Amino acid sequence: MNTHPVYARIDGPIVMIGFGSIGKGTLPLIQRHFDYDANKLTVIDPNAEAGLFLKQHQINHLHLAITKQNYRKVLGDLLEPGKGFVVNLSVDTSSLDLMKFCRELGVPYIDTVVEPWAGYYFDTADNAARTNYALRQAVRDEKAANPGGTTAVSCCGANPGMVSWFVKEALLTLALDMGMKMKMPTAREGWATLMKELGVQGIHIAERDTQARRKPRPRNVFVNTWSVEGFISEGFQPAELGWGTHEPWFPENAHRHDTGCQAGIWIERPGAITRVHSWCPTPGPQFGFLVTHNEAISISDYYTVGDPSAPEYRPTCHYAYHPCDDAVLSLHEMFGAGRQQTQHEILDVDEIVEGIDELGVLLYGHARNALWFGSRLSNAETRNLAPFQNATGLQVTSAVLAGMVWALENPDAGIVETDEMDHARCLEVQRPYLGPVEAHYTDWTPLQDRWEHFPEEIDPDVPWAFRNVLAT
Ligand code: NAD
Repeated sequence: MNTHPVYARIDGPIVMIGFGSIGKGTLPLIQRHFDYDANKLTVIDPNAEAGLFLKQHQINHLHLAITKQNYRKVLGDLLEPGKGFVVNLSVDTSSLDLMKFCRELGVPYIDTVVEPWAGYYFDTADNAARTNYALRQAVRDEKAANPGGTTAVSCCGANPGMVSWFVKEALLTLALDMGMKMKMPTAREGWATLMKELGVQGIHIAERDTQARRKPRPRNVFVNTWSVEGFISEGFQPAELGWGTHEPWFPENAHRHDTGCQAGIWIERPGAITRVHSWCPTPGPQFGFLVTHNEAISISDYYTVGDPSAPEYRPTCHYAYHPCDDAVLSLHEMFGAGRQQTQHEILDVDEIVEGIDELGVLLYGHARNALWFGSRLSNAETRNLAPFQNATGLQVTSAVLAGMVWALENPDAGIVETDEMDHARCLEVQRPYLGPVEAHYTDWTPLQDRWEHFPEEIDPDVPWAFRNVLAT
């Protein structure tokens, strides 16, 4: 019996750009959940290994890299106006240029990050211009300049992506548990007011990845559970966070932005060596890395109450990422050596012997202290749910699936971020792939479990102040 619902028919060409860990995991979900003409699906990727896999599975493959010079010609030759879908899961291709072109043609589009053209991450001298704030703002400016039109879903992976839907579920859980009488908000203003009224001071995107293989990490190899290239790129960007109205202190090495939504700040330090105190159900208190992410800015922006330049309320929001242990060691080696490892490995579902990806949102500072809400998907369970991916991958690819379903059901929504989508519908599609989705309260605050022998400058009056969260 077929237990996988077919959500929609996609007429016309489906073009996937990029066939790495996420593309390889997304393809079987597309095959499972959409009705389309198999001979009209094409994958574009310059990688020979990807080509071999696609050939074995009889999938059309264009063996080239999309570039600023060729994208209009290559995609223009493949696409048909008003039909099909473009699914961008590559590195080094400009999300903004690709989504603009798709919208020109009336073709729905989805990606999982605001990716720039090759060279941007390491060749841009100005750190402010290397922020996700800048990348995101360019997409928001395009949305403001050209509202409505063909749907283009921006940043719809696990995070950014699914975590924005979790924030809404967590708010509803908190409201229920606090006995607040309310109706589910239907627009941004209502959600922002709800978060404010619940007394949420901020949100960590709190993740602990415990997936491990038996083989010890070889020296000079960067090992991760998803794109090594993507992780190194974002890890070298400045640390960044959405900056809340409850913060009593401002870091000396931080900067605000003069233009745009004003919701975020950036710090003069790479995110992947900036540690924060955070909390996840498995480890309890832990260090995470303050790696910049689109959702840190989008969530703080979305939940702002009042004038964005002098808000009445805004939550702090940032990533607190403990990647798999091999990736922590890889980062340590890379930053210590001052150069990138030339060999990269992504842990394969079949070599992983234990572990889960515990990815959720930690809403803190309210009357119940802190609530973690998220997915605790194991690699073992992943194996039974969908092929060709580990737990980290499936949290991302199932969000892509949900985003595609939503886009097909809402074809003229213009450019949207996941905060702006129907979170209930998206989670309905995604949830069968997320393993246990759980809510956990904790009494822990960043004032606890510190090493008393070495006094730190902390703020005892505001337990969840970023000053206390940031590790010195
Ligand atoms: P990966 O490194 O495994 O694969 C990237 C693929 O893109 C490779 O196969 C590569 O050959 C291909 N590629 C490189 N340049 C290209 C070009 N110019 N044109 C076409 N293809 C090109 O990466 P991944 O783990 O599959 O991640 C893919 C993207 O998804 C990255 O941008 C990553 O940051 C993003 N991502 C987002 C989330 C999220 O939760 N939002 C999570 C994981 C990954």
